[in-house]
Amino acid sequence: MHVFSLKCFGVGDGWPNADRNHSAFLYRLGGATLLIDCGEAVGRSLKASGLDYDALDRVLLSHLHFDHVGGFFMLVQGLWLEHRRRPLSVHLPADGAAPLRGMLEAGYLFEDLLGFELRFAPWHAGQGVTIEQTRVTPFPTTHLDELRRAFAPRHPQSFAAYSFLLETDQLRVAHSADLGAVEDLDPLVREPLDLLVCELAHFPPEALFRYLRGRAIKRLALIHVARPLWRDQEALRRRVAAGLDGLPFVIPRDGEEITL
Ligand SMILES: [Zn+2]
Ligand SMILES: [Zn+2]
Repeated sequence: MHVFSLKCFGVGDGWPNADRNHSAFLYRLGGATLLIDCGEAVGRSLKASGLDYDALDRVLLSHLHFDHVGGFFMLVQGLWLEHRRRPLSVHLPADGAAPLRGMLEAGYLFEDLLGFELRFAPWHAGQGVTIEQTRVTPFPTTHLDELRRAFAPRHPQSFAAYSFLLETDQLRVAHSADLGAVEDLDPLVREPLDLLVCELAHFPPEALFRYLRGRAIKRLALIHVARPLWRDQEALRRRVAAGLDGLPFVIPRDGEEITL
């Protein structure tokens, strides 16, 4: 039995992809089973994983872009049809709770129909949440800052986006979700990491390589790889190998599992 496993349900970026699902990642560590993000087709991926529908402990949503939440409704429909009974907490940016609940109701997935309690819990920056023996801490990123500057006057939303630090007694793992710049990783890499799961769509790869050089990180997984980079994976692999200076890395495909 591994102390850690990450099943990649969707390693795609925000663009339509013929060979990748959108962001969804099933983490198992410290006795907890956690789903980070719900890009489509997360419902199908969860079924294919064979995981018991009551085994999922929490859903952790990094931000409200649809490549990260677009599969949420089908996930909930699946939990209902497969007779989940345990309450399920969904951690998310605060202003996501009402619209997600409203959309579930619009699709007739009423609270009193579901058969299990669905709880929406807003993230508080820097405040950890403990699930079994795992601590999850959300850190704000600048992913939506540009959009905030352009649209906040007319669309007064939070434009919140988070990355996550997952810690147990034995492990420290970071999940970037979507970033605005590589410096958004600062709070995640302050202490040594066993694994960094990092996106590669919102900055040039070399900016990440420069940033990571000399850091205490045992392994890197590159996800959410920008479509132009994904197109030529051999070239990408060579570029990453040259840039990382010996840091072991993987560029997983959908369905791949990373264990520690
Ligand atoms: Zn994204
Ligand atoms: Zn995004």
